Amino acid sequence: MITDEQLLRYSRHILLDKLDIAGQEAILAAHALVIGAGGLAHPAITYLAASGVGHITVVDNDNIEISNLQRQFWFSDRDIGQAKARILCQQLQAYHPQTQLQPVVARADISLLQQLIHHADIILDCTDNFASRRLINQASFNARKPLVSASALVFAGQLAVYDFRDGHGPCYQCLFEGDMNDEGASCAKNGVFAPLLGIMGAAQASEALQIIAGIHPTGCWLHCFDAHRFQWQRLQLAANPDCPVCRQTALPTGICG
Ligand SMILES: [Zn+2]
Repeated sequence: MITDEQLLRYSRHILLDKLDIAGQEAILAAHALVIGAGGLAHPAITYLAASGVGHITVVDNDNIEISNLQRQFWFSDRDIGQAKARILCQQLQAYHPQTQLQPVVARADISLLQQLIHHADIILDCTDNFASRRLINQASFNARKPLVSASALVFAGQLAVYDFRDGHGPCYQCLFEGDMNDEGASCAKNGVFAPLLGIMGAAQASEALQIIAGIHPTGCWLHCFDAHRFQWQRLQLAANPDCPVCRQTALPTGICG
């Protein structure tokens, strides 16, 4: 039951016909699991918390470095050396006391992921490497939970929603098959344009909130953004019948969307 204070705080959401009180109540009751506390997570968690998501768990084992400050805007010079997940949660908790933010300072291995995903309604992959994305994809698929995955490198961003609630793909592994590695594809080596993280992280929050509220349009798309030309493209996704993660229950190619 929504309170009078919540009616005021979230009135601009409640005014949206598509969202209404029912959508906002779903957001208030939701538990989001965010893996990564870096450049995508900063805008993503900011919008989740400001929108009233009830619980947010943030997993990251990295410490803050000076090179993070260009895009990870909740960190300052005095935070260098501190755990990213802890500082990010502290900062946002002060602004949004209505949300419970829980930092988990640990590497997101498969057993930790399975344990945390069990308690979550939705997963946001805000990591920066293929190995983590594959693990998060596998654990989300196993738990039949929706996954919002994004990446950003140089001027290029990608975003996809994998909704596993019906127990079928497509999944991240369908799209990025084989033994991809991060050689030559890291922000540390190639750089990343700071506002691109803001755009892609906010887009993750937008997709996640609409899934939580039950108003996300169906369809499986990979959204690609070129920040240099300011151009979006979208590609329809289909399950790979040979995918090692979702093939057992995959739908035939082309049925998606
Ligand atoms: Zn798959």
